[in-house]
Amino acid sequence: MDGHGGTAMLGEMGEQEFREAGVAVVDRIAAYLSHPERWAVLPRTQPGDVASRLPASAPDAGEPMDRILDDFDRLILPNTTHWNHPGFFAYFSITGSAPGILAESLIAALNVNAMLWRTGPAATELEQVTLGWVRDLVGLPPEFDGHINDTASSSTLVALATAREATGLRIREEGLAGRSDVPRMRIYCSEEAHSSVDKAVLTLGLGLQGVRRVATDAELRLDVAALDRAIAEDRAAGILPIAVVATVGTTSTTSVDPVARIAQTCRREGLWLHVDAAYGGAAALVPELRPLYAGWELADSIVMNPHKWLFVPIDCSLLWLRDPERLKRAFSLVPEYLLTPEGASVRNLMDYGVQLGRRFRALKLWFVLRYYGRAGLEARLREHIRLAALFAGWVDAHPDFERLAPTPFSTVVFRYRPAGLEEAPAEAANVLLLQQLNNTGEVFLSHTRVKGTYALRLAIGNIRTTEAHVARAWALVQQLSKQGG
Ligand SMILES: *Cc1c(COP(=O)(O)O)cnc(C)c1O
Repeated sequence: MDGHGGTAMLGEMGEQEFREAGVAVVDRIAAYLSHPERWAVLPRTQPGDVASRLPASAPDAGEPMDRILDDFDRLILPNTTHWNHPGFFAYFSITGSAPGILAESLIAALNVNAMLWRTGPAATELEQVTLGWVRDLVGLPPEFDGHINDTASSSTLVALATAREATGLRIREEGLAGRSDVPRMRIYCSEEAHSSVDKAVLTLGLGLQGVRRVATDAELRLDVAALDRAIAEDRAAGILPIAVVATVGTTSTTSVDPVARIAQTCRREGLWLHVDAAYGGAAALVPELRPLYAGWELADSIVMNPHKWLFVPIDCSLLWLRDPERLKRAFSLVPEYLLTPEGASVRNLMDYGVQLGRRFRALKLWFVLRYYGRAGLEARLREHIRLAALFAGWVDAHPDFERLAPTPFSTVVFRYRPAGLEEAPAEAANVLLLQQLNNTGEVFLSHTRVKGTYALRLAIGNIRTTEAHVARAWALVQQLSKQGG
């Protein structure tokens, strides 16, 4: 029993034990990834099921790895929602692909904290290089440079903090509270924009009223005339507009704001333009989709998540800025104990955001980019887009179903709506349909509202999802809609 962290032995697990446990872990991963369908994609776990089966306190004596792994098999795997299941169509379906998974274990092994260049030279430089690679792959101009965050929420927060700093109101030094010389400020986005914009303003001290959500057109795109009116109205009321967030691929329906026209407004009004392409950004690798991105090169900042649709395990969010030095001016604080002899000759990642410590996320991005290559990534994204178009076509052709939003990427927003069914029972039928679909264990879909109407979402983004899985989802949708109705 000793030797598993008992007092008889200090220090780390021995090499031989590590090898054996490591093989056991890799065997599990390989078996799991080869056939995630053996699990229900959405487990039947009830709230509290997991916690109630765990001991109330941490073990006193260390335990052997095989026992810990047995409990992983027994308690964790069956009570997990299986994001790697090819029937995962909920939210945005994301995949941590094999090269990224392997990189994650190397990242953990090195345990680099890339706060300073000196504390992680390879991590710091690889981050900049991979950011440049992806920027080129998605067709952005070379002036965009940036860094990697955990999530788009963090990326958007620091981008909007930089926009707030660009007002010249010395908020970094003097703050907002207790000042009579600071007007109310406003950030604009569409009704369909992600809640991370609201989270950012509440964190930045602008208050939730600091976001003004602008109406969208019939295709759920920000209405630029309404934006222009909102800005003029706010200025007349003494409110200071500071930024616009345009979305390429909204979370609910994947609609695409008219970024080029929004950029004109921003230029005319002197506003920061932040483009949220957390989900949609990856598909700019596909040349025939490039027109969707027209104008994003005019942004001041752009966020894109390789953990969403570029096969990198969560988390990995890229933030590019036209001028990263502005971000640095907003955030850099260097205490004596973090000064290094390299001085200004190097980039220290701690200068570009809130957190000091940073994981070596660039390694998994690098592995994924190299293993699949541009061509491999492009082909996979194009296939997802093809599968979504196929499903959209099935919906359109069926008299009892309708699509509630265009399908520019790989997410289909639709509902069951047979002729003669009124609005209220139609909603109830779709709520029931979603429940029944998710109870099958074969597929997992989620829902949204499109201008108030309850809708189902089928998001394709899993690296294992094939036409057979999408066809099976459609068969289940048709079959279960009949049973419910
Ligand atoms: C998912 C999503 C976000 C938030 O992403 P996190 O990385 O989870 O913070 C922001 N914007 C859009 C458009 C998204 O789809």
